[in-house]
Amino acid sequence: YPSDRIRNFSIIAHVDHGKSTLADRLLELTGTIKRGLGQPQYLDKLQVERERGITVKAQTATMFHRHNFGSGVTNTQDPPSFLLNLIDTPGHVDFSYEVSRSLAACQGALLVVDAAQGVQAQTVANFYLAFESNLTIIPIINKIDQPTADPDRVLAQLKSMFDLDPKDALLTSAKTGQGLEHVLPAVIERIPHPPGKSSAPLRMLLLDSYFDEYKGVICHVAVVDGALHKGDKISSAATSQTYEVFDVGFMNPEFKPTGVLMTGQVGYIVSGMRSTKEARVGDTLHHARSIVEPLPVHQATNHGTLFEDFSGTMYSLHLFARTPDFVHFLSSFEVASVMADSVGFRPAKHMVFSGLYPADGSDFEALNHAIERLTCNDASVSITKESSTALGLGFRCGFLGLLHMDVFHQRLEQEYGACIISTTPTVPYIFEYSDGSKVQVQNPATLSSNPGKRITKCWEPTVTATIIIPSEYVGAVITLCSERRGEQLEYSYIDSQRAFMKYRLPLREIVVDFYNELKSITSGYASFDYEDADYQVSDLVKLDILLNGQPVDAMATIVHNLKAQRVGRELVEKLKKFIDRQMFEITIQAAIGAKVLARET
Ligand code: GDP
Ligand code: MG
Repeated sequence: YPSDRIRNFSIIAHVDHGKSTLADRLLELTGTIKRGLGQPQYLDKLQVERERGITVKAQTATMFHRHNFGSGVTNTQDPPSFLLNLIDTPGHVDFSYEVSRSLAACQGALLVVDAAQGVQAQTVANFYLAFESNLTIIPIINKIDQPTADPDRVLAQLKSMFDLDPKDALLTSAKTGQGLEHVLPAVIERIPHPPGKSSAPLRMLLLDSYFDEYKGVICHVAVVDGALHKGDKISSAATSQTYEVFDVGFMNPEFKPTGVLMTGQVGYIVSGMRSTKEARVGDTLHHARSIVEPLPVHQATNHGTLFEDFSGTMYSLHLFARTPDFVHFLSSFEVASVMADSVGFRPAKHMVFSGLYPADGSDFEALNHAIERLTCNDASVSITKESSTALGLGFRCGFLGLLHMDVFHQRLEQEYGACIISTTPTVPYIFEYSDGSKVQVQNPATLSSNPGKRITKCWEPTVTATIIIPSEYVGAVITLCSERRGEQLEYSYIDSQRAFMKYRLPLREIVVDFYNELKSITSGYASFDYEDADYQVSDLVKLDILLNGQPVDAMATIVHNLKAQRVGRELVEKLKKFIDRQMFEITIQAAIGAKVLARET
């Protein structure tokens, strides 16, 4: 296929608006999967994805569709065939890095909105990701078969929020099939073909990778320029490693070896990589010995950067050059950051950390093995060994966000039968000491209270949250956000019934229980999304929990000074309920350094 008969697009939507169902229908319509035989949500491969109904890893599928431009053509011959690459994207904000990398390989996106629910928080986030990537957006109002569907209201929302013309929208039901026949013609007629040059040296964007028991590491790639043939030697711009391509083809939707991928195509390669750690999402692959400019990183929200310490351990630090405070701090890491930029990929940014311990201390090896196997397929989790006096040997794990952490826990338990204890999630704080040194703290227990080294300044990560709610809940949400130290940035109305609010919130305040609380005060009607914002200077203290005068490392937390009293009180009262009555007295205390804030016996 010449690239003018190729279209690369993705489907973006708020959770549950019908993205996976629509993808299935398009695969059926093109005969890529058989009607009725396909399991529902063909592209959601992991068990946790099926269960939670979310997409975690991006998947791709190639399909073929015949189409004639213009209706007046009286052509007895078959209309020309087009090669369409559907690049599925994870809908959730935790995976926004994967979303934006997937979008980088597309020229268009179907923006799916539920005809009853209308625009929701992730609709907004996904729209802007697509818009900033300069994609042609085709609005699709889905689920028009529902009795409560109100397509006109949703069209008006799309017009007022994103300036999308109601004339451009398609109305569909992925359930009954209504309106679906217009989707692929719109893809072919409105979305531009991939712009790459077939005569230029090969450049491929690495979209995703995973480990397959039989084939080894499989990479999904988009060929931006040039062509790739089986047997070619390729190199990674990020690591300079060279590999031989053993197998190449596309997903239809199963592996279809073709021996070649041409300009504009999306497909898979198997190249003898030993671990997915060698395959970095966003990396540029090119022919060995050819010198190419790495593909650009165009990502709106990720300001994370990579820092390698002397022992070779990778840390990802979250630096935000936009605040003057951080310009100074940034300089020491500039080199690492510039390096990461110049090879065109950004490493995973870990925003939530928690300790993972085997429920039975003797199971450490089993847990170790399970984690190793799982991280083979999820290189975005960072793992370091740690030990706790209370819990024994375990791991400190860094995640992209809360959902990512939940999904990882669930997969450990489901796919590897591991029984685990996890400590309260924490966020990467940064502390500056009187000697000028700075540390990133991923485990509150490790923050030293050494009097010789006073803490002089601290920073905590914040997020920009988007909240969409029916207007009657505005008051309750404002109260919740101010309890969580939020600062209101924007407050407006999408239409007469729905309010749109933007808040800047400390990440710490949403890590534990914010979403549940928000759902419960709004009877489940709130939709919520967030993206990383700057670090902010904050008055933070380490809160220790002591049993009979001994600090319990696994329970140490870092809290805002003004909240320390309340958090300490609550923890101590909770513990009193949980610890079984003993024959002797146990004192339970919450303390900052030597200062006791709360005590129970
Ligand atoms: P995703 O989270 O965006 O991938 O959404 P799914 O495709 O998993 O769909 C979420 C739910 O909505 C599933 O129960 C689907 O069966 C249902 N659904 C999808 N499309 C339609 C539709 O057009 N009409 C109705 N009534 N339900 C739909
Ligand atoms: Mg889905």
